[in-house]
Amino acid sequence: MKKLLAASFALLVLLAALALASPGALQEWLPFPTTDLVVHFWKDGFNPNLFEQVEGTNPYIALLDGRAARLEEDFQKVERFLRLDYDPAAQGKVYIFIYPTLERYEEATGCLICAADVGGLLPQFRDELMSLIGAREVSPIAVYLTLDSSDYVILHEFTHVLDFSLINNSPPTFLLEGLATYTGYRLDGVPDEWQLGLVEQFVKLRLEDHGIDLLRDYFAKGGYWKFTYNVGTSFIKFLAKRGGWERFLQFYADLHYPFDREKLDELFQEYYGAGFAELEAEWKGGLAQVEVTENARAAYEFKLDQVLIRYIFLRPLLADPQRAEELFETARTLVKGQFNEAAGAALRKYLNDPGNLLATKETVEKALKYGSYLYSYVQGYHRDEPELVMEFGDGYVQLHELYSAGRFADFTRLYWQSVQTYVTWRR
Ligand SMILES: [Zn+2]
Repeated sequence: MKKLLAASFALLVLLAALALASPGALQEWLPFPTTDLVVHFWKDGFNPNLFEQVEGTNPYIALLDGRAARLEEDFQKVERFLRLDYDPAAQGKVYIFIYPTLERYEEATGCLICAADVGGLLPQFRDELMSLIGAREVSPIAVYLTLDSSDYVILHEFTHVLDFSLINNSPPTFLLEGLATYTGYRLDGVPDEWQLGLVEQFVKLRLEDHGIDLLRDYFAKGGYWKFTYNVGTSFIKFLAKRGGWERFLQFYADLHYPFDREKLDELFQEYYGAGFAELEAEWKGGLAQVEVTENARAAYEFKLDQVLIRYIFLRPLLADPQRAEELFETARTLVKGQFNEAAGAALRKYLNDPGNLLATKETVEKALKYGSYLYSYVQGYHRDEPELVMEFGDGYVQLHELYSAGRFADFTRLYWQSVQTYVTWRR
């Protein structure tokens, strides 16, 4: 029975994925080449007449040109930080695709909780560019952003590009994300002690709540896991402080799967003159000294990340998305290193009330389209709890049945319940 449900569920996921909008072929994008990049803006969402005016006399083009130049500056900033020298003649120029809005990005890529992404070129671009990739004129690694992507997000994704191209193709996931997060925080102009300080406090609280076993949970397991980004960032900060940034970068370049205690001991001895267990204990000892502010504890207990992800999944059904967006933006803004606790609580309260959802055919269809991403999230996040994933899968099949029967209010209630139950960082 379970197996049958899982199979029909896989089919539903496939159908949902096929229904998503396509970002189109390359000619639908306006390219702006810089030294290392070719920045592409999606014409959809802009007024196409604006693009037909003569370049140089068009203020709109000048604006995009300026945007492309700033991205090049950011790219070079990350290069310097990582002590790298990207050579577009050898590696190929990096194609950047910029969607006009987050909504268009989500529709085109189907990725709801990404906001930005780095990865391979989408098949339709790849096919068009195959010969240029072969000749190393175009990098096979591309970046997908929106016009609203923050400095931090851009710097984070650029770190991945340089990492995959020039440093390490298979580092452990928590350090891969840790490196991008650490670099983004160091370079984005926001005081380090605010952002990195909060990371340390969250990791300390996680350590107290749950314990952290780096080998079992992060080195050996791989993939995305609870606190992947925070744990990686904190551990990198510790190693950088202990042995210097250059040494960390050399160590990082040397990390390759699979890991066991013996291999890690050898690696850490070589670079840090101490065994793995000793360094892990030292890192945890440092965390024990971290002072946790009341606001950070409240943010941790609010599970601000959880509230954010719930918000994203519930967004298609919200009766007043503008209001929720405002609450969300206020809640996550750091003011002198502190979250806006009151706005966080208000957002949480807003999402906890199913009365704030709208059950129409239109909202339900939108939510259904995002359902497969909800499933991927649940599957990844709860991968050590297969029964829970199965239980969610059953509910997901039921969602499709409710939709087919036109029972939109019941659909909305069950979708909301699923988000409340399964989108969590601790059950
Ligand atoms: Zn990342």
